[in-house]
Amino acid sequence: MGLSFCVLESGDGIGGTWFWNRYPGARCDIESTEYSYQFSEKLQQEWDWKNRYASQQEMLEYLEHVSQRFDLLSDIRLNTHVEYEKFIGNKWHITTSTNKKFSSQFCIMATGAVSSPRIPNINGLTQFSGQIYHTSQWPKNNIDFKNKRVAVIGTGTSGIQCIPIVAKDASQLHVYQRTANFYVPIRNAPTDQKKSTLIKNNYNDFREENSKKIGGYCAGDISNKKSAIDYSAEEREEIFESAWQKGGFYFQSAFNDLLKNKISNNYAVNFLHKKISQIVENSNTAKKLSPTITFGCKRLSMGKDYYETYNNKNVRLHDISENPIH
Ligand SMILES: Cc1cc2nc3c(=O)[nH]c(=O)nc-3n(C[C@H](O)[C@H](O)[C@H](O)COP(=O)(O)OP(=O)(O)OC[C@H]3O[C@@H](n4cnc5c(N)ncnc54)[C@H](O)[C@@H]3O)c2cc1C
Repeated sequence: MGLSFCVLESGDGIGGTWFWNRYPGARCDIESTEYSYQFSEKLQQEWDWKNRYASQQEMLEYLEHVSQRFDLLSDIRLNTHVEYEKFIGNKWHITTSTNKKFSSQFCIMATGAVSSPRIPNINGLTQFSGQIYHTSQWPKNNIDFKNKRVAVIGTGTSGIQCIPIVAKDASQLHVYQRTANFYVPIRNAPTDQKKSTLIKNNYNDFREENSKKIGGYCAGDISNKKSAIDYSAEEREEIFESAWQKGGFYFQSAFNDLLKNKISNNYAVNFLHKKISQIVENSNTAKKLSPTITFGCKRLSMGKDYYETYNNKNVRLHDISENPIH
């Protein structure tokens, strides 16, 4: 458009979400062929995804490739945190944390909806003598949890993704849960080459089709046009089981009304509660892991071996819903 521009970025690298959230197990929950740029057909053809669902590292590699491929880095100022902006006259006046000043006619605040870490206000946190990590401020080097006693606070998607991996190394892992979230296995796998070639041969149509689906991605497509109440208990169970095996958001779209009809929603809740009790050997732990919230109101969490991890002797779940950490 002939405009001059520059991007101001707090981090010392590009990638946003995928730059900051380097915790073990971080992975995209939308298929890589869909959670990717579509502005360049050449880029779509050149890039080969290794995984059905890209890991944080793979996603970051992709974003770094894009920034180099389109020569964007020269217009990005890293380590530049915007402290405040003011609109005076007909211009934005921008000041950074190091007191650098910029002005521009337009200012696009692409600062992300979930880019500010929330550090819980826990009494005595600063006096804690062990190491403290936050999933969204994870260091670039590997953290060795071998023979360590580790506590994970929080069982949203970041907790759910990192718990099984940390549990492999830690001598003890204590998980502190306020709210149990609904979880389904993601079923990641190496890219299916046949499927990938098919998509690449018709990328435009693929994107066009996805744009018509709920959420704009394949798994959001409710291919079953019927309600969960239109089936017998056995048929419903079979459909839920097949969606669970498919993994990810496919579970949410097993029927056309899981998010709209309370009875159907309860069927999904019951199926998932049953799954938990089948997988988790300790019935008390299984009960604590069974969400009491409505299915689908919070984004569904996905990962690998989450419930199975609670069968490990070194892992303990603590329900802090009635006794939160202060
Ligand atoms: C752990 C995690 C996993 C996720 N996984 C998925 C997923 O699987 N699928 C999905 O669809 N969505 C997922 N999301 C949502 C994800 O945030 C979006 O998909 C997408 O990455 C958001 O892009 P964005 O450019 O809007 O924001 P971001 O990627 O957050 O980028 C915002 C950028 O602005 C910078 N910034 C913020 N404030 C300032 C400031 N004052 N000055 C300078 N720079 C600033 C930040 O450093 C950051 O680089 C996930 C989010 C998180 C946190």
